[in-house]
Amino acid sequence: MTKRTYAVAIDGPAGAGKSTLARRAARDLGFYYVDTGAIYRTVGYHMDFYGIGPRDTDGINRLLGDVNIAIRYDDEGVQHMILNGRDVTGDIRTPEMSAIASVISAQPAVREYLLEMQRELARAHSVVMDGRDIGTVVLPDADVKIFLTADPEVRARRRYEELLARGEKVAFENVLADLQQRDRQDSERKLAPLKRARDAVLLDTTEMDLEQAAAALETIVKERLGL
Ligand code: C5P
Repeated sequence: MTKRTYAVAIDGPAGAGKSTLARRAARDLGFYYVDTGAIYRTVGYHMDFYGIGPRDTDGINRLLGDVNIAIRYDDEGVQHMILNGRDVTGDIRTPEMSAIASVISAQPAVREYLLEMQRELARAHSVVMDGRDIGTVVLPDADVKIFLTADPEVRARRRYEELLARGEKVAFENVLADLQQRDRQDSERKLAPLKRARDAVLLDTTEMDLEQAAAALETIVKERLGL
């Protein structure tokens, strides 16, 4: 008999706190944490490295078979992206890679290529998986689905502070404009757009700090999993 695995799907727009909260929840539950945005970023990074733009469908389809992605976790539970043997975890976290990932993720071949990889992770392990289409497309039978959101200004402020802390020189107005553009692209694309699954619990963290949001998420997860 195969062991029962559990899946917690967390979707929402950029800067809603998905990765921080999902990582914490995974650690508390003893599940794997899977940040699917990082996987799209890694594909975008590979294409960009070879001079293929995110709208170049032919170029992307040609190179996609060369993209070998492995996921490793360090002692803090941080997800490392290994692209063809090289750790690109730091390289994919730039505003440029955010923009590339958002465009490239609308490419049907890319989504299809990554779909099975994500499902396989959830078959093999209990997971907390975050992204845009986890509850709607990747894991429609997830045990818990949460749609995490916050007002755009609040999300942009959090992203801005994160980038500053990492030593990136950015203007708040640019961070907000980039985020709004990504929201639009991610929600309006035809394939697997960002949207709340009908059975997802809405968690709006606009008025919450990190601890309050983590506590609210934990309550939802534990209740749904019957823990
Ligand atoms: O979550 P993160 O900001 O790292 O995601 C980068 C981009 O990857 C998003 O803007 C979105 O376009 C894409 N993405 C996606 N589906 C997912 C996760 C991310 O299309 N499940």
